[in-house]
Amino acid sequence: MFGLVCHCRFCQKRSGSAFAVVAYFRDEDIEFSGEKRLTYEHRSDESGRWLRLEFCPRCGVTVTHTTELRPGARGIASGTFDEPGWFRIDRHIWTRSACPWVAIPDEVDVFLQGTSGTPARAKNE
Ligand SMILES: [Zn+2]
Repeated sequence: MFGLVCHCRFCQKRSGSAFAVVAYFRDEDIEFSGEKRLTYEHRSDESGRWLRLEFCPRCGVTVTHTTELRPGARGIASGTFDEPGWFRIDRHIWTRSACPWVAIPDEVDVFLQGTSGTPARAKNE
């Protein structure tokens, strides 16, 4: 569906890094195999909406998540693909908490918070 980079504080904490990189698919198009994933539900202290992380019980890597905001969609963490950079990034979100040394390219929409509303900076293609 689309690819995004999220700079929210929760994604910074959960990834142990500066941002999360996620490709979104229609949930019905995704099929998992192997071990059953464990889940952790986070509720945003800002929006009040839930985010369900699903991670590998063996290594703890967060593979995928679903959100209250996007019913029927499923995010897959880019680092879990064989080729982490195969998909296109459309937008950077929650950039108000982006680390000051992060450079955001011109060809993406930039949102200070979530993706609702108009971008703070529209893509320049
Ligand atoms: Zn986030």
